[in-house]
Amino acid sequence: MSRNPRYDILFEPVRIGPVTAPNRFYCTPHALGTGNQMPHTRASMREVRAEGGWGVVNTGYCSIHPSSDDSPLPNCRLWDDADIKVHALMVDAVHRHGALAGVELWHGGAVTGNRMTRIPLLSASGISAEPTYPGWISLAKSRTMDKQDIRDLRRWHVDAAKRARSAGFDIVYIYSGMNFGPYQFLLPAVNQRTDEYGGSLENRVRLTREILEDMKNAVGNQCAIALRFSTDELLRVPGETMQSEAHEIVSMLAELPDLWDLKSSSWVVETASARFSEQGAQEPYVSFAKSLTSKPVVGTGRFTSPDAMVSQIKRGILDLIGAARPSIADPFLPNKINEGREDEIRECIGCNICVSGYHDCVPVRCTQNPTMGEEWRRNWHPERIPKGDPEQRVLIVGAGPAGLECARALGQRGFAVTLAEARDALGGRVAIESRLPGLASWSRVRDYRTNLIRKMPNVEIYCGNLLSAGEVLDFDCDYAVIATGANWSAGILGLDGYPAAALDNDSVFTPDEVLAGVTLDGPVVIYDFDHYYMGSCLAELLRASGHDVTIVSNASAVSAWTFMNNELAEIRSRMLELRIRTELEQMVTRYAQGMVELTSIYRDRTVRTIECGALVIVGARTPNDDLYRELASRPDALADAGIGKLRSIGDCRTPGAIVHAVYSGHECARRIDADDDCEQVGRERPVI
Ligand code: ADP
Ligand code: SF4
Repeated sequence: MSRNPRYDILFEPVRIGPVTAPNRFYCTPHALGTGNQMPHTRASMREVRAEGGWGVVNTGYCSIHPSSDDSPLPNCRLWDDADIKVHALMVDAVHRHGALAGVELWHGGAVTGNRMTRIPLLSASGISAEPTYPGWISLAKSRTMDKQDIRDLRRWHVDAAKRARSAGFDIVYIYSGMNFGPYQFLLPAVNQRTDEYGGSLENRVRLTREILEDMKNAVGNQCAIALRFSTDELLRVPGETMQSEAHEIVSMLAELPDLWDLKSSSWVVETASARFSEQGAQEPYVSFAKSLTSKPVVGTGRFTSPDAMVSQIKRGILDLIGAARPSIADPFLPNKINEGREDEIRECIGCNICVSGYHDCVPVRCTQNPTMGEEWRRNWHPERIPKGDPEQRVLIVGAGPAGLECARALGQRGFAVTLAEARDALGGRVAIESRLPGLASWSRVRDYRTNLIRKMPNVEIYCGNLLSAGEVLDFDCDYAVIATGANWSAGILGLDGYPAAALDNDSVFTPDEVLAGVTLDGPVVIYDFDHYYMGSCLAELLRASGHDVTIVSNASAVSAWTFMNNELAEIRSRMLELRIRTELEQMVTRYAQGMVELTSIYRDRTVRTIECGALVIVGARTPNDDLYRELASRPDALADAGIGKLRSIGDCRTPGAIVHAVYSGHECARRIDADDDCEQVGRERPVI
C-alpha cells in the first residue's frame, strides 16, 4: 500500500539549525525509567522508534551536573567524559535508521532532591518547590544562587553540550521550563533578585539567553540548539508590551534557538490522561508561538490521528509533531502512515501506565505495546516476531485483552489459532470498562487487535461459546490457552488488612454487577480498597445517574494509586466538582439496616455510621480459573487429547491491570512452543 497524499506534508524534511530532520515526526524528550544504569535497554527503546520512522528521537531529561540529581528516579546524565560512551550507544542506534538524535540537557535547580549527591539545591532566590505529594516533598530546601553559581551553571551547560556533541547528538537542549534551573529565573513570583538577573523581564530572561548563546558558541556549528520552554504560567502573566510574558519571551528570544519545544509547566497537565483530556489538549499553550518566530516549533498532544497532525501543521500551530506516549504505544506509527496502513496504528489509549513505570523506577511499560522495555532484555520487537509451525493448532479460551493479544501474536507467528469467547462480543473487560466515564479510548485495546485478527486467515473466532473442560479436550489442538479473566469479589478487609468474611446483606454489590446494570436504591456507598480507577469511575457513573455517592477508602486519597500515573489530582478535582463525598482512612466493618459502619484505620479505631442504600465493594478480584484448574488436574486427559501445553494467562492467572493481561498474552504467544525452563533474559551489569 502507498501513502495517502493527504499525509505527504508529514513527511517533509524540516531544517533545524545546522541539521535536517527527515520528516515531521518528532519523539520529544521523555523519561524512560532507564537512566544511565541501563544503557542497552535505553538505546534499544529509542532505536526502535527511529526504525519505526520517527525523524528525531530524543533522550529523556539528562542531568548536566551532580547538583541536579533526581535519584532514585532513573534519569540520565552527562556529568563527565565517562558518561559519553553510554549516550553514544543510543546515538549510534538512532543514527542507524537515519533519524536525528537529541539530548535534553537539564538542571533541576530547586526541583530535584539531590538525595544521592547531597549537594545543596540551587534556585534563583532561595524559593524552593513545595509539592504536596509525599513522593516529591524534599526536606532539603534551596539556596539563592550567587554570581559564581550562575557562572557555574552556564559552564556546566557548555561542558555537557560539548560532551553531547562528542557522543554524536545532533540536537542539544537547554531546558528552561517546568520550574527547572533557568526557568526559575523567568518567573516573577520565584525570581526576587535585585541584580541584573531579576526584576525586569529582560533581566529575568538574561540567564536563559546567556546559556543559549554559550551553547551556540560552543557547539552550534554542528548541533542544533533547542529551547524547551513552558508557557502556561507565563501566559497568565500580563506582558509589558504584549498580551503575556510568554509572548514577550518568545519574541525576545525568537531567532536565538534553532528549535522551540513548547509545553505546559505541570507534568500532570502535560501528561493528562485520556480520562481528563482530549487529543491536542496542549494547543492553547503552543498556538501563539509560530507568529513570533521563524524557527520550527514542536509540541505534543497525544496525537495518534494523522489528520489531527496534518491539521496542526496546516493551521500553523506546529512544524514538528511531538510525541512521547503515541511513540511508546506504536514506535512504527510514522512508517504505518507512510505505507498507507494507518488502520494498523496501535493507538495510545491515554491510560498513563507508562508514567507509572517511571515512578516505579523501572523501564516504562505500555498497555498497548507489550514489547516496550523488552526490546533489548528479551529481544522483543514491536512489529516482528519469530515464525511458528502453521501445522500446530492453538485454542484460546476467552477474548479479553489477554486472549486477544495472544491470538493476535500467535496469528502473526503463523499458528492455526481458534479464539473462543463466551459472550457475543470480543474485548472482555475493556469492552465493558470503556463504557465508564472518560475511558472510551480504552476500547482501542480491543479494536487494534480485532482489526488485525480479522484479516488473518489462520485465526478463527467463535463468539457466544462458553467452553467446558470436556469441550476443550474434544477440540483438536496442540496447545490450550485459558484466558477467562477474573471477577470482582464482594469480600471486605478485616481491621488487620487481611480478607474478612463477606457482609451478609442483599444490598452489597460488586463492580461486575453495577456494570451489568443492576438497579441500586438510595444513597450509594463505594468502598474502595482497589485504589485504581474503578472506584472513582463508578462514583462518576452513579452520580451521573442521579445517585448520592460517598467513596470510602482505607487510603488517604481517592484512587490513591493514581499518584503513580499522574491522575490523582484530576480525580480529586472531579470528585469535588461532582459533589461526591469522601470518607478516607476508614474501613467498612458492618452494613445493616441501611447504615454502613466505618472504622478508622488508626489506633483509636473510632466508629461511625453513614446512611447507605447500596454498598458497592471495589476491592479484590479473584481469578475465573475453574476451567484451567479442572484441565490442569487431568494431565492424562490432556495427553490423550494431544494437548502438549496448557497455559493460563491474564487475569485468570493473576488479576491485574490491563497492561498485565496484554503482556501476559504476548509473552505466552512468544513462548508457547518454547522450553519453559530456558528463557534467556538479558541483564545489564555494572562492570568492575
Ligand atoms: P483478561 O483481562 O485476562 O483478558 P477478561 O476478563 O477481560 O480477562 O476476559 C476474559 C474473557 O473470557 C471474557 O470475555 C469472558 O467472557 C471469557 N470467558 C470466561 N470463561 C469462558 C469460557 N469458559 N469459555 C469462553 N470464554 C470465556
Ligand atoms: Fe499510551 Fe497507556 Fe501506552 Fe502510556 S501506557 S503509551 S498512555 S497506551
